[in-house]
Amino acid sequence: MPATDPTARPWLDAALPVDTRVELLLAVMTTAEKVGQLHQVANLDADDPDDVATLVAGGVGSSLYASGATAGNERDPGVRREAVEAAQRVALERSRLGIPVLVARDVVHGHRTVFPIPLGLAASFDDGLVERAAAVAAGEAAADGVRWTFAPMVDLSEDPRWGRVAESFGESPVLSGRLGAAFVRGLQGPSADDLADAGRLAGCAKHFVGYGLAAGGRDYDTVSVGENTLRNLHLRPFRAAVDAGVATVMAGFNDVDGTPMHAHPRLLRDVLRGEWGFDGVVVADWLGVAQLVDQGVAADAREAAALAITSGVDVDMVSGAYAAHLESLVDDGTVATEVLDASVRRVLRLKLRLGLFERPYAATSSPYPATSEPTDATRAVALEAARAAHVVVKNDGVLPLRADATSYLLTGPFVEEGEALLGTWTLDGRGDDVVTPSAAFRHRLGIADDATGERLWVDDGRFADRVQQRARRCDVTVALVGEHPWRSGEANSVTDLGLPPGQLDVLRALAAVGRPLVVVVYTGRPLDLGAVLELADAVTVVWHPGLEAGNALASVLFGDVEPSGRLPVTFPRSVGHVPTSTHQRPTGRPIPAAHDRREGRYLDDLTGPRLPFGFGLSYTSVTYAAPTVSAATAPLGGSVSVRVEVRNTGDRPAPELVQLWLRDPVAQVTRPVAELLDWRRVTLPPGGSRVVEFDVGTDAFTYAGRDGTARVDRGEVVLLTGPHAGDLTPVTVTVV
Ligand code: BGC
Repeated sequence: MPATDPTARPWLDAALPVDTRVELLLAVMTTAEKVGQLHQVANLDADDPDDVATLVAGGVGSSLYASGATAGNERDPGVRREAVEAAQRVALERSRLGIPVLVARDVVHGHRTVFPIPLGLAASFDDGLVERAAAVAAGEAAADGVRWTFAPMVDLSEDPRWGRVAESFGESPVLSGRLGAAFVRGLQGPSADDLADAGRLAGCAKHFVGYGLAAGGRDYDTVSVGENTLRNLHLRPFRAAVDAGVATVMAGFNDVDGTPMHAHPRLLRDVLRGEWGFDGVVVADWLGVAQLVDQGVAADAREAAALAITSGVDVDMVSGAYAAHLESLVDDGTVATEVLDASVRRVLRLKLRLGLFERPYAATSSPYPATSEPTDATRAVALEAARAAHVVVKNDGVLPLRADATSYLLTGPFVEEGEALLGTWTLDGRGDDVVTPSAAFRHRLGIADDATGERLWVDDGRFADRVQQRARRCDVTVALVGEHPWRSGEANSVTDLGLPPGQLDVLRALAAVGRPLVVVVYTGRPLDLGAVLELADAVTVVWHPGLEAGNALASVLFGDVEPSGRLPVTFPRSVGHVPTSTHQRPTGRPIPAAHDRREGRYLDDLTGPRLPFGFGLSYTSVTYAAPTVSAATAPLGGSVSVRVEVRNTGDRPAPELVQLWLRDPVAQVTRPVAELLDWRRVTLPPGGSRVVEFDVGTDAFTYAGRDGTARVDRGEVVLLTGPHAGDLTPVTVTVV
């Protein structure tokens, strides 16, 4: 490596390979400047003298917002392109080495164009759609100066009490992995070089690992999990995100059996970097480095900083422990210079890969519209996604609604809502941009903008008596109930999975009227819908649908599009049944998924789920023939094809999600009773049928054995097809 003259800034030569540029830069950095790259601050404000001094000293590498003095609120100062650029200008023009800062943001399910919450996106089972939604989000956020986002969250949701179920893609490792990978491709672009495109963001697979197993569903709580469950379930979606090229990974707040994830070299270094070859940035979660003190594994912030960086955490998110202590830890030899350099290299490589040195200012360089305003094109993706998220879970024939008929009562706390339908983590979404349910119903029924009465009554449903009176005068009632977004998401755990207080009383009053009752459930988690399913003639689950909430609702309920969403999580019978995910392993007793009171199950209730994973209705009926296989045996390393004929026996088109599941009856470790392996979406015309074919390589039967290493065994495996976890038909193949 030639000696570097910092004033010549040879690392700016874009013709050189990225790694050469990294070394040229690293060679001239002081320890303090290196530490600066690992220090992430909350806000960067070029009007704040302290922030300016830090930028000039090269003391900060990245931030979570950049608001300037004027914008935002206390909770979230916001991101403004002008503010990002003002901070960037200080970093580039006034710091010694002119290293650009990287502005990050939680763009979890959209920036200005808000898509359904991730759990809703997962209900689409559509990786292409998820990829397009993420690409829109990336383009909009990049137009505001953001180039890194803390998404996708690929933690598996085992416990509906946990609020962050809303941010997940549900409980299946295969579904979460596939959608997580699609999200990464959407953010970063399909190939590694695309990251340099100014409309792309670096993604972040979070929260590594096991965070969804928080004890009691209490957010941030400790996690007790063994090697089998980690490897065969919770690590898998992270592996998929890493294989898709995710640029960064975030450590979880949780411990794993006593070792906090911010101090876990076995998982961060040996598994993530060693086994999987991940060479991107590992970022701490919010205050996660300093939290090691509160978790009781470090005496003070200095010890926490040493522990975190040697364990594999490159960037300290806002705790300040690295900024305060890393330089002296390196000076006194507690932390080896090589350890510091390795982390700094990763951060510099990320900035170079993003093209930040060449195009540091979003406004002048983005090939995307220099606006993050929703457009017709981005709204179209949001509408498609909100429709695809819509899961019909009961229909006694009242759906689809008939637009030419009768009069409707639209009631419940969400009828006039905009903001509440955006969902958790929508820092930049605006309630005013949301199409409300009442506006969409008026539009669909051809009623003037603010008119009600005659054909459409709108009532917020606060008073059961009043709404019951109204329902008596209408032919159909559509009640919009469920959770506000502030009841799901981070730090929002609950002990009761029923509807929020009061809502069931209103539904009872409406059901007592004896006219058709459609209940639409907004939620960020699986709820106990037992009473709702009894009271209503039709029930649909729409999660928190985002900007096009109203239009999506009206178009599905009136049958302009066929409902196609499927549950990406199991809905339990009650909170007392948790956990009820499909990950149950055989116990030696009859399979617990059977709705059965015997054999050590509950004395006071059935054991099965209220609504199984993968469940969802269309407006027609579909039958499945028994699956067949192309051969009774498959050579190890070869493949087998599974075929199943599906038939639409009704008179409307069927967008059927044909599912393939696996049961491995003999393995080194107990394996799930059934595990989702693959799925195909087919649209069957009325009366039509189709043979759906899955090509299954024997590598799909890979699992981690007793010693944790991946293996595929010879012997029988059972492949099952069907419409959901509760209705599967087996066929057997022998791996030889
Ligand atoms: C959350 C992360 C998030 C971070 C930054 C934390 O509290 O756990 O998911 O990315 O804050 O906002």
